[in-house]
Amino acid sequence: MIMFEGKNGKINEMIDEIGDNHISTSAQNPIRDDAFSLSDEEKIKSIQKDFTNILHTLGMDLNDDSLSGTPLRVAKMFVKEVFGGLHPDKKPKLSTFENNYKYGEMLVEKNITVYSTCEHHLLPIVGRAHVAYISDGKVIGLSKMNRIVDYYAKRPQVQERLTMQIVQALQEALGTEDVACIIDAKHLCVNSRGIKDIASSTVTAEYGGKFKDESVKRELLDYIKLETEFE
Ligand SMILES: [Zn+2]
Repeated sequence: MIMFEGKNGKINEMIDEIGDNHISTSAQNPIRDDAFSLSDEEKIKSIQKDFTNILHTLGMDLNDDSLSGTPLRVAKMFVKEVFGGLHPDKKPKLSTFENNYKYGEMLVEKNITVYSTCEHHLLPIVGRAHVAYISDGKVIGLSKMNRIVDYYAKRPQVQERLTMQIVQALQEALGTEDVACIIDAKHLCVNSRGIKDIASSTVTAEYGGKFKDESVKRELLDYIKLETEFE
């Protein structure tokens, strides 16, 4: 565990560096054991107070009609929406079916929209995920792949971890190692502050089982490159 307490300049430098380099310390989200001892309503109340304090400290007049509802609005949004994927109960049920038609090729669900939040700056990560698997007897509903991406995205995240979590969840549900995920995303903490590079995006990939094979990986990348028109 890294301690950030104290007024030491070195420590402040380290905080900036870990943030700007987006270094993650674990493949699991660092969630405490008592993370869900408070109800959602209790969390909203507490975060509302915290945001009132933040805006007040910044010098904002919370009696202004436009601002007065902001702390509650942000608190609800944090608990129910942007960080709504922290609670294990919210994990989508990944029910599978027998692969009766014996489709043995890879299935790719591409261009899945990703809205996540960088855990180092709490700014949005926006991009696309491409998820693929090769059935070993089980198949999964297509929308479940979108839902599992969204579930893990709705946490304070690091893109590498998000990519791995999606693969692991699908490997577990499908009972096969042959799952892959590629995410191409923009990090607003890079695009709008710090280095302010609006054009750059970050690509992360996790290849399980057969997807480690060069030709299988190539096939997946070719499918992702296909520009299908639907007009
Ligand atoms: Zn960041």
